Amino acid sequence: MADFSFLPYGKQIIEEDDIAAVTSALQSDFLTTGPLVAQFEEAFCAVVSAGFSISCSSATAGLHLACAAVGLKENDLAIVPANTFVATANAVRYCGADVVFADVNPETGMMGIKHLRDTLARLGPDRKRVRVILPVYFAGEVAEVEEIYEEAKRLGAMVIEDAAHALGSRYQSKDGQWHIVGACDHSDLAVFSFHPVKTITMGEGGVVSTQNSDLAKRVALLRSHGIERNKDVFTNKVLAFAENGSVNPWYYEMTNLGWNYRVTDIQCALGMTQLQKLDRFGKARQSLVGRYRSQLSDRSPYLTCLKSSPHCKPVNHLFVILIDFEALGISRGDLIQSLKDDKIGTQVHYVPVLYQPYYQALYPNHPDLPGVRRYYDQCLSLPLYPTLEMSDVDRVVQSLKNKLEIQ
Ligand SMILES: *Cc1c(COP(=O)(O)O)cnc(C)c1O
Repeated sequence: MADFSFLPYGKQIIEEDDIAAVTSALQSDFLTTGPLVAQFEEAFCAVVSAGFSISCSSATAGLHLACAAVGLKENDLAIVPANTFVATANAVRYCGADVVFADVNPETGMMGIKHLRDTLARLGPDRKRVRVILPVYFAGEVAEVEEIYEEAKRLGAMVIEDAAHALGSRYQSKDGQWHIVGACDHSDLAVFSFHPVKTITMGEGGVVSTQNSDLAKRVALLRSHGIERNKDVFTNKVLAFAENGSVNPWYYEMTNLGWNYRVTDIQCALGMTQLQKLDRFGKARQSLVGRYRSQLSDRSPYLTCLKSSPHCKPVNHLFVILIDFEALGISRGDLIQSLKDDKIGTQVHYVPVLYQPYYQALYPNHPDLPGVRRYYDQCLSLPLYPTLEMSDVDRVVQSLKNKLEIQ
């Protein structure tokens, strides 16, 4: 057998211009709170057609800021699909509110409008306490966000999109128009991640985008300790102003309890060069996904690709297949190990959040959700990143077919 290198399920791509940009940021006067932060935010607004983009230290921080900015608090409820990374649900808990897990479509891993309505029906009169709905764009696909937003408005709830997987993804609304995720045409806020496995990276980093200037201001305020530096809104006139009416130059006011969720200029330098590659990375990802799909479709009733909608043009963060392990009589653990022996990395996205011991202890009577259970029993993420080669895809597919004894 040829000497293949190991293929992880995902990884970052760092090029010479990324290194040069970071080096130059390190040599500049500002390591944090400098000009590159605003430049990155402006560049991000242009990429996703957002009115406002607020950078932050991670998507986890961004989700927390978004939830805090809409006023999520104790005794409120927030609806989170059960198939997501723990951070989506945890952001709700940081605000003291309670998580209600929604089921997902086992063919997409996503909460659709049906699952949202079922969840609201299950809540009965408690549905009035739902203040936030957090759809997750699993693997980069976008599901029924227009309908979810309409339902949220009827309910008086806010929609915060967890778009950590969906930078660059577009979807079509019922009127035929195409929208890019992050423009918030059908949401209040959207949150992105730049962790190294995501579509582009800043090492760590996130962005909250919105069209709403008041929400943007609140997110920015809470990102940096809740400290206000705008003299026009200072409330303590005695401390803020000198006798001649001029503002005291050292003065600032803390108006809310915020956090330090800032991102550095070093990270923003990387973010800007990475953003310029989004088109190229996105195209590479989609042609690899096309290759996987054409090689895997109709091979076996027991192996299917995650279903994609004709109303979505995704930039896929993950490539997920569904395997009926029970029907094939093999264990997922054994398959993962034997693919690893062939130098192929895979991952399971995700262990349903409601099965996590923290949430089990918190909500011992939470109803079980059959859709996410079925999805979880079958899912497996295969390698996907822009420098993966077509021949690598062929090798993964061949190895998988051999192990599953599929032709
Ligand atoms: C990666 C991820 C997050 C968290 O992102 P960080 O930037 O690592 O905090 C949140 N939600 C989803 C769906 C993710 O995949």
